[in-house]
Amino acid sequence: MSFSVSKQMSDEYILKTPVILDGIGFHSGKRNVIIVEDNIENDGLYVVQEGKRYKIDPFAVSTEQRTTSIVEGDQIIAMTIEHLLSALHALNIRNLNIVFEEGNEVPILDGSAEGYMQLIESEIELIRREVDVLEVTETVRQVAQGDSSRFVQIEPSDSDVMTIQSTVSYPDSRILKQEYIFKFSCLEDYRREIANARTSFPFTIESEEVIEETKSRLKGAIFTGENKNVNIYSSWNTDKTRHENEVARHKILDFLGDLNVLNIELSPRITIKLFRTGHAINNALARRIATSLLKNGNS
Ligand SMILES: [Zn+2]
Repeated sequence: MSFSVSKQMSDEYILKTPVILDGIGFHSGKRNVIIVEDNIENDGLYVVQEGKRYKIDPFAVSTEQRTTSIVEGDQIIAMTIEHLLSALHALNIRNLNIVFEEGNEVPILDGSAEGYMQLIESEIELIRREVDVLEVTETVRQVAQGDSSRFVQIEPSDSDVMTIQSTVSYPDSRILKQEYIFKFSCLEDYRREIANARTSFPFTIESEEVIEETKSRLKGAIFTGENKNVNIYSSWNTDKTRHENEVARHKILDFLGDLNVLNIELSPRITIKLFRTGHAINNALARRIATSLLKNGNS
């Protein structure tokens, strides 16, 4: 048994007033409008599409489009949910409906989680209640399919602060290697160190062709200008990055969002190691945890 659940009193937040997110989708490039509102049923995180509720759950996730999406069969219900879920995890909001009024993709905003936090934080109220906390009892390593050198590892620790160590390596690009160790003890840590780290492109071949191909795959990607949502590493990008290791930090942002499909608090007595991770590895770990908890009657 690698995982278990403990009960703990915790500071949680509820959303007092619904907030509207209106912006372009990273993949579709189209306008999407969503309303984020308190889930008065108190039964977790849901996506609402055309009046139907879909529970956010590790087994409802597809990472086929190199993003985290909620699907039903072949149908994409909600695309690119990871950055919003990351912000919700940091804010300890556990009951919410994400209602799609237009489109099926969460607006990408600036490619980080900062915009969601600012919007949601203006309407939240603190409550204290008993919650489930994920405990890790033995080390588990999840490797990428077909490449065992890429992995996420989750292990128990004696520390009272959760630590996430992130390493990225793109030897043929301008990034080469980045590392970051995040000590996650409170919301302020996340806000300061993780929330504003954007999606990045470490191009290995800096050609117009590659950039055009990327633009056609990601129709909502904005590479230049004041509100750009992609931090690119190329000879022609002279804009400053927000952190010297922004890519490694963004991997932590993604991991916290991808794991939040479990909608559970993480014990401070956990150490996590991310080595060249992606959404598929993160989701495989989330499924493994969910399966382990179900087996042990901790669902
Ligand atoms: Zn991301």
